[in-house]
Amino acid sequence: MNIVLLGAPGSGKGTQAKQLQVEFGLAHIASGDLLRGNLYNKTKPGLVAREYMEKGALVPDEITLTMLSGRLQAPDVEKGVIFDGFPRNLSQAKALNQMLAALRREIDSVLYIKVSYEELVNRLAGRWVCSKCQLPFHIIFNPFRTCPHSQCKGEHLYQRDDDKPETIKARLKTFNEQTIPVIDYYRKAQLLTVLPGEGSVEEVKQAALEAVRNLRR
Ligand code: AMP
Repeated sequence: MNIVLLGAPGSGKGTQAKQLQVEFGLAHIASGDLLRGNLYNKTKPGLVAREYMEKGALVPDEITLTMLSGRLQAPDVEKGVIFDGFPRNLSQAKALNQMLAALRREIDSVLYIKVSYEELVNRLAGRWVCSKCQLPFHIIFNPFRTCPHSQCKGEHLYQRDDDKPETIKARLKTFNEQTIPVIDYYRKAQLLTVLPGEGSVEEVKQAALEAVRNLRR
């Protein structure tokens, strides 16, 4: 099973991707996490990517696609994949079809978590992420109380550089201009399920699980 999970920054796609990963035993491939890993390790592509990430723009396809095709060589991909935050533009969507076809696979379903603009801005501005497990928290809606993995006391929480107000606006603009066409592309291909994303994490999770279970029937 190969699933693409789309949503604007702040829509909760990372949280939901982790739930689907656990529930269905899929590999979780988050392009943003891969890029941040490169940045952290100061690789050449990571240093180039930083400039774009800081501006809230998309990192050039050359970097993102090379990184993705490398990740698709790992053995865990056999189990099926949940793509989180990828593809983000039409050329990536077409490249993903080709990369999967080379592995004799295809996309089974695309889930789009839809959240209003105002809600996205509120969520991103209060977001804190654990640098160890990447779980997001929110100062008001979902404050850190205990570590769900019982591994820390919240000492790894940090606010992402790109969760600053000006960058948030730029990221949402990038989403509208470049990723909405991807959603339309998958709608035309009859692969798209839209999930209302403003309910609780649990409500969105149930809707996502149901969409994937329907796929398996
Ligand atoms: P995310 O963690 O998914 O919110 O991504 C953080 C940033 O990484 C984005 O604002 C982009 O600059 C970059 N990024 C993540 N995924 C992609 C992608 N598929 N294509 C290009 N840039 C990406």
